[in-house]
Amino acid sequence: MSILLKGLSVSKGICIGKAILISKDEINYVPSFIKKSQTKSEVNKFVKSLSNIKKEYKKSRDKIKDNPSITKLMETQLFFVEDKDFQKHVINNIENNLYTANWAIATEYRNIKKSFDDIKDKYIKERLIDIKQMVISLLDLLQPSKKENVFSKVNLENRFIVTDEITPKDIIDIYQNKGLGVITSHGSTSSHSAILSKSLSLPMMIKVQSSREIIQDNDIIIMDSDDEVIVVSPDQFELEYFKKLQSKKYSLQKDLRKVLKKKSLTNDGTKINIMSNLELSDEVDFLNNDCDGIGLFRTEYLYMNRRDLPSEKEQISVYKKIFKSMGNKPVTLRTLDIGSDKEVSENIKVGEIAKNPALGLRGIRYSLNEKYIFKTQIKAMLRAGYNNSLRILIPMITSLSEIIKTRELIDDVKLQLKKERKNFTNKYDLGIMIEVPACALQSDELAKHVDFMSIGTNDLIQYTLAIDRIDDEVSSLYDPTNPAVLTLIKKVIESAHKYKIDVTVCGEMAGEKSYTKLLLGLGLKSFSMHPQAIPEVKNIILNSHINKIKRKISAILRSNDRLQRQKLIDNL
Ligand code: PEP
Ligand code: MG
Repeated sequence: MSILLKGLSVSKGICIGKAILISKDEINYVPSFIKKSQTKSEVNKFVKSLSNIKKEYKKSRDKIKDNPSITKLMETQLFFVEDKDFQKHVINNIENNLYTANWAIATEYRNIKKSFDDIKDKYIKERLIDIKQMVISLLDLLQPSKKENVFSKVNLENRFIVTDEITPKDIIDIYQNKGLGVITSHGSTSSHSAILSKSLSLPMMIKVQSSREIIQDNDIIIMDSDDEVIVVSPDQFELEYFKKLQSKKYSLQKDLRKVLKKKSLTNDGTKINIMSNLELSDEVDFLNNDCDGIGLFRTEYLYMNRRDLPSEKEQISVYKKIFKSMGNKPVTLRTLDIGSDKEVSENIKVGEIAKNPALGLRGIRYSLNEKYIFKTQIKAMLRAGYNNSLRILIPMITSLSEIIKTRELIDDVKLQLKKERKNFTNKYDLGIMIEVPACALQSDELAKHVDFMSIGTNDLIQYTLAIDRIDDEVSSLYDPTNPAVLTLIKKVIESAHKYKIDVTVCGEMAGEKSYTKLLLGLGLKSFSMHPQAIPEVKNIILNSHINKIKRKISAILRSNDRLQRQKLIDNL
């Protein structure tokens, strides 16, 4: 019988495939398969590690004979290593499900863990810790590089990843390994993982309650994240229904994409810039040049999922690829915005003592602290920008001094490039992200020192309302329409107009069709969003009359009731 689950959609799409359960909190699961011909050697690998671990335990037990409590512990662990049921189940998983030894072990551990849920006896319940330790040792033996990314080098084709939480690093791995979709039991819609999944068109639903308990490995799943529903083990009727829905939606989307070829003018003839956000340079291939440029390239993803830093040469080739696909349209390269929920590899230290990473060494703070990394990036940007339309964007600015220091550093880099006799551009625009209230409040002054401003509503909302954007416990309070947020956005737009510089919104609000008219009413003429959102948002822009909207804006700014505000916004 099929089971229906509900959740929150962060990245839309209808897809059908099989589930892989991954528990990152407990044991580092590595969902991987072998070929039928490899079963014998995989079973041997498992048996050998089991016997090695047995020897190790025996050695340790004999060494510490004098300590009865440790001896007892070793005895218990030995008991589990010798447990025939455990061995039988793992071997069965290898032989019949073609799991690798380590995944077979991890899966069996999860089953054991589940069976412990109903045990009331405290002493027996605590033995799970001993089993877990034994399993960890076994996995270590089988796969020494246990710290590798859970999803890397694994074929996830036609598979849904079902897990508790997901990081941006994981999303990249899942995307690169051709995963079908992601289902999590926690998460928030404004996290970088959510943004990435949208950008990469990787369907994802979060806060799917009981998903980890109900969905089993290899279960067939239908995920309709357009309607926020998941069907576990669907029947034939459901399968056919969703397949039809899938093709219907596909043709609707195709129709909507026709809007891309039209000029982006409102009903009253105002030109609105619609640019694309980009996370991975590969995405540029899907853009078809159907936008007014790149409003935000989040370069931090170049630094993730690897142990080394991207060299100047490597960065140049990535940036050039984007310039090339955009022709002479502007390309906005944001300098490294590492920190907070964007983890980096161990070699890049980010706020070693950051108890609260969102307020720590993030964005420009990190870059000015790690000048070598920053200079390499600026060099690559200036070199790739030669004969191209380059806009350099600085994240997490809070004061004028950071802009001045950045300009000084860029001047240093130019001198260096001159000495090295390298071609580089002198004609670039320098802009700042407005994502901290301090920066928004000073926008009148800061606008005099930069060529453009880009409003990062994701962080601006986080910092204005003191809501951690990745904390699902407070996510219901994350309100883009809060009057404080709207007042700051309005102020920044007005400051930019006063000093005749460009201002764009590149946070998720720009790609949310329910806020398009609101932003137009606040005076915005430039949007940057994930590419999939462009057709819908553009369609609304083409059907908007700015002057009519503007008349209704002050009532929204005055309203202190969220529901009433939303009604007013819906009626724009
Ligand atoms: C933002 O904060 O709105 C933004 C675009 O930057 P990021 O989401 O990468 O923090
Ligand atoms: Mg930001």
